[in-house]
Amino acid sequence: MRPIIDIRPLLEQPRRIFITTHQKPDADALGSSLGLYHYLTLKGHTVTVVSPTEFPDFLQWMPGMQGVLNFEKQEAASLKVLAEADILFCLDFNHADRTKKLAPHLLQATQPKVLIDHHMQPAPDFDYGQSDTQKSSTCEMVYDFINLMGDNALINLDMAQCLYAGCMTDTGSFRFPSTTASVHRMIADFKDRGLNHASIHEQVYDNSEERRLRFLGFALSQRMEVFPEKKAALIAISKEDARRFNLDMGDTEGLVNYPLGIKGIVFSTFITEKADEVKMSFRSKGSFDVNTFARTHFDGGGHFNAAGGRSDIGFQQTVEKFKTILKTINI
Ligand code: 5GP
Ligand code: MN
Repeated sequence: MRPIIDIRPLLEQPRRIFITTHQKPDADALGSSLGLYHYLTLKGHTVTVVSPTEFPDFLQWMPGMQGVLNFEKQEAASLKVLAEADILFCLDFNHADRTKKLAPHLLQATQPKVLIDHHMQPAPDFDYGQSDTQKSSTCEMVYDFINLMGDNALINLDMAQCLYAGCMTDTGSFRFPSTTASVHRMIADFKDRGLNHASIHEQVYDNSEERRLRFLGFALSQRMEVFPEKKAALIAISKEDARRFNLDMGDTEGLVNYPLGIKGIVFSTFITEKADEVKMSFRSKGSFDVNTFARTHFDGGGHFNAAGGRSDIGFQQTVEKFKTILKTINI
């Protein structure tokens, strides 16, 4: 993969640019994609963001969201944009698998592919880019890219709002160790440009339906198991639970973090039964590497302290498999 600065000559004339991100995009995925969208559009390019799947309601406020294509619902339009594009940007993922049904089309595409991402162990499918696991968020990396291109002065409120949102969620509201001095300097830069950060926190975190908080209470009181001798905890939510609380996409976002609030717990797992597979989220504090755990046992990956995985063996069997593995590891 060539360094990202090498795409500069390619961007010297107006281009058609396709931006995509991982399935079920979160604030960092959509925020980085839309932040880059606003920047490249301002530079005179024709830019389209394609999300592999639907996106959660709490991100609908992001400037530019109305133009985002959903590959699942707008496959023909998305493939047309892909076919006509001169350059493809891949943001906040490092393996085509993370784009679900878009993956084979991405892998077959012959246009230059540019990666901007902070996950561990990127696949060798990208021509240009930057992969840096030290970075707080892909949003921070898009900010770095704009600066690298010498365009700091072009950063406007649309870009700042999108980039702030993803950095805010990926750093746990600026509390995880990845929150460097550079992150704070970037936020200061956004504030100097008039960013209203409080309203972004409200739109992302204070925008739940009542049922989400009822469900949170249920999940913590009825579905959380704590394994103090393993410094671990598990929350497992079945399809029936999801139906009972009429759960929507995004309603379980962040649930996996709660058990880490228990004194002595450093490894938290969330298992949820989806229509076609079982999805898992892993979080840790300190030296327990959940990226390796997810890769080794659950076909997943991510970061050292935050990773995800999946399983095809059914919900109950996945829960049992997890508990069996937990018995064998030392945390
Ligand atoms: P989450 O638990 O919030 O879904 O994901 C945590 C982190 O792990 C995110 O950075 C996400 O991109 C990554 N991740 C989630 N699920 C998977 C997966 O199935 N495979 C891989 N490689 N990474 C995942
Ligand atoms: Mn991210």
